[in-house]
Amino acid sequence: MTQPQDADARRAIRPVICYPPENLPAADMARYETARKDLTRTDSVTVPPREARTFSVPAGHFFRITSVEGPQVGDLNLHNAQNLAERFYSGKSRALHGTHLTTGERLWSSFPHMRPLATITHDTLGWYGIDSFGGSVHDVIGTRCDPYSHALLSDGGQYHHCCHSNLVRALAEHTGVSRAEAEPLVHDVLNVFMCTGFTRDTGQYFMKASPVRPGDYIEFVAETDLLGNLSACPGGDCSASHSSDAASCYPLQVDVFRPDPAAMQGWNPAAENSYDRTHGD
Ligand SMILES: [Zn+2]
Repeated sequence: MTQPQDADARRAIRPVICYPPENLPAADMARYETARKDLTRTDSVTVPPREARTFSVPAGHFFRITSVEGPQVGDLNLHNAQNLAERFYSGKSRALHGTHLTTGERLWSSFPHMRPLATITHDTLGWYGIDSFGGSVHDVIGTRCDPYSHALLSDGGQYHHCCHSNLVRALAEHTGVSRAEAEPLVHDVLNVFMCTGFTRDTGQYFMKASPVRPGDYIEFVAETDLLGNLSACPGGDCSASHSSDAASCYPLQVDVFRPDPAAMQGWNPAAENSYDRTHGD
């Protein structure tokens, strides 16, 4: 293919950050750092391998997802508990914070709400950074493993324990609606503990063995009343395959904590977005 004469000059134009995060409303990390020093556990949910479970977190409470027994990645959905249609917006969270999330970054909700649903308050894998392959942990690039892609990629193969289907079953069970009604509420996830990136030469999505070990956890504060839904991915540590029962899989634990009320005095749940929603003339 012929290139224009100024191809190199065009490529050499410096990039600019689309959404400078310092312009976003800041999370009150100093308060959260104090509040998380005195946590009382109020609930605990074990997510079995290749299954999903829901959990509820009141606004201002904390929750932790912990690796137990063996390296395992999780696919996390979050909803506003009062309105399940307001849910985590992986694509916009990626645009605002980058391909992988860690402490201080937020999980934003879908239009027409777009406010923080949760803020990450601690991440024991925060040391990992970005490796030499361009890989990092807790991605918002990988959607969720699903039976539709699997059917396309495997000549019609049927596999029912992809994260998508696990999340559908768990949400249907929690809400009492049919799986067909629950399915459209399932959305792109935060890939907890998953180590992913894009290959530098071909730009392809890759995964590699997660660095997570039992005892590692990621912790959040709920910025609204939340319904969480977490799937223990059939990919296990996602070192080789998913969408099958081939990988070694382990449970994930979710714990919900009430912080010291004094530390949260004067704190308010996330306000609605200030856009007037008239969309102009
Ligand atoms: Zn999965």
